[in-house]
Amino acid sequence: MTQAAEPTGLPDAAEFAAAVRHEAADWDRSGTLPERVRKAVAAAGLFGVGLPGRYGGAGGGPADLGEVCARIGGVCSALRGLLTVQEMVAAALLRWGTAAQREQWLPQLARGDRFAAFAATEAAAGTDLAGVQTRIDEDGDQLVVTGRKLWITFGRTAGVFLVLGQIAGRPSAVLVEGDRPGVRREPVEDQLGMRAAEIAHVDFDAVRVPRDHLVGPPGMGLTHVIGTALDHGRHTVAWGCVGMAEACLDTAADHAAHRLQRGVALAEHQLVRAELARASVRAVAARELCARAARLREQCDPSAVAETVVAKYTAAGAATAVSGAAVQILGAAGMAPDSLAGRFFRDAKVMELIEGSQFVSELHIAGRLLRRHGYRPAPTERTRTVIQEGPR
Ligand SMILES: Cc1cc2nc3c(=O)[nH]c(=O)nc-3n(C[C@H](O)[C@H](O)[C@H](O)COP(=O)(O)OP(=O)(O)OC[C@H]3O[C@@H](n4cnc5c(N)ncnc54)[C@H](O)[C@@H]3O)c2cc1C
Repeated sequence: MTQAAEPTGLPDAAEFAAAVRHEAADWDRSGTLPERVRKAVAAAGLFGVGLPGRYGGAGGGPADLGEVCARIGGVCSALRGLLTVQEMVAAALLRWGTAAQREQWLPQLARGDRFAAFAATEAAAGTDLAGVQTRIDEDGDQLVVTGRKLWITFGRTAGVFLVLGQIAGRPSAVLVEGDRPGVRREPVEDQLGMRAAEIAHVDFDAVRVPRDHLVGPPGMGLTHVIGTALDHGRHTVAWGCVGMAEACLDTAADHAAHRLQRGVALAEHQLVRAELARASVRAVAARELCARAARLREQCDPSAVAETVVAKYTAAGAATAVSGAAVQILGAAGMAPDSLAGRFFRDAKVMELIEGSQFVSELHIAGRLLRRHGYRPAPTERTRTVIQEGPR
C-alpha cells in the first residue's frame, strides 16, 4: 500500500456471516442480493477492509481482508463477490489513481455509497485480455468509450465500472459511471454458479467521460491497473474458496457423524472417512497457502503475486473437491434446494475459471519453476500475458 494505514477497527465478518447465513439460498434462487443486505454490509464496515483509514477503510492487512473473505465466502459466494469487485477497483485506484481520483472515489467505495464493477472480459478476450477491442477515443478534454463487456459481476447494479479498452492500440483503464448516457445493461440469469452476483453484459455506446477518469497512463491499463485489480481479486477469491471448503467440510463431517443407515453412522465406513480425510487436508492446505501468500503480500515480497496464484489455484481446487465430497457424503440431502454444499458445488466451478483459470495457473506455476531451472520461454509462450501479474 502506498498510504499509511490508520486502522478504524476491523469489522466482525464472522458475526455478519452468521446473521445472514440462513438467507443465502434465497438470494441464490432469486438471483439477486437485496438492497438491505448491501446496506447492512456497508453498515458493518465490510467494504474497504483493505483501504487505509484516511479513505474511510478499516486499514486491514492482506490477512485481515482474507479472513473477511473466508467468513463471507463460507456463506455466499455472490456476497463475497460483491466485496471482491469493490476491493479490486479500490486497489487499482489506490495503486495507480491520481491523488484527486483517490480522494474522490475511495471513500465512496469504502462506505458502500457507490458499487463498483470490473469490466474487462469481451467476446474475443477472456483469458487473454490483450485482445480487448473496446475503444477509448480521445476527444478534447473527454474520452469516448465504445465496446461490449461480458459477464460483469454486479454489472446490473454497479454505479461505476473500471473498463479496460484501447487508446489508439494502447491498453488503458477508465472509470465510467453507470448512469452515463450510452451505458446499457443486459442481465445474465440462471448461470451455473454465483447466481446472486447480478451478472450482466454491459454495452458502452460512445459513452463520454471526462479525461480525468483515465486510471494510469495509456499503455499501462492492462499490465498495471487491471493487473493490480486481478491480483487483488485473486487474493480475495482464494480466501473465499477457503471459506467454501471449510463450510462444506463441516457440513459433511456433521452429516457423517449423525446420519444412521441400519443403525450405523456413515462415519463408521472407511470410505466415508477417507473422503473426509482428503477433504480436511485440502481445506487445511488451502488455508495455509492463503496465509503464506497473505504474509508475503504484507511484506511486499516480490514473490507475493506468484504465491497468490498458487494459493488461489489450490483454494479453488479445494473448494471444488471438498464441495463434491460433501455432496457425495450428504447424498440426496446435498442436492436439496437449500443445500449449502450443493450451491457451493456449482459456485466452485466458477472459482476455477475466474481471476486466472486452473489451466492458466498451472502454466504460470510451471513456467516459474522452469525459469528457476534455466528454461527460456519459447516466443509463443503467453503465460505472463494471460495471468496479468502487474507490478506490485
Ligand atoms: C460468474 C462469472 C463472473 C464473472 N465476472 C467477471 C467480471 O466481473 N469482470 C470481467 O471482466 N469478467 C468476468 N467474468 C469472465 C471471466 O473472467 C472469464 O470467463 C475468464 O477470464 C475466462 O474467459 P472465457 O470465459 O472467455 O474463457 P476462454 O478464455 O475462452 O478459456 C476457455 C478455457 O480455455 C482455457 N484457456 C484459455 N487460454 C488458455 C491458455 N493460454 N492456456 C491454457 N488454457 C487456456 C481456459 O483455462 C478455459 O478453461 C466472469 C465469469 C463468470 C462465469
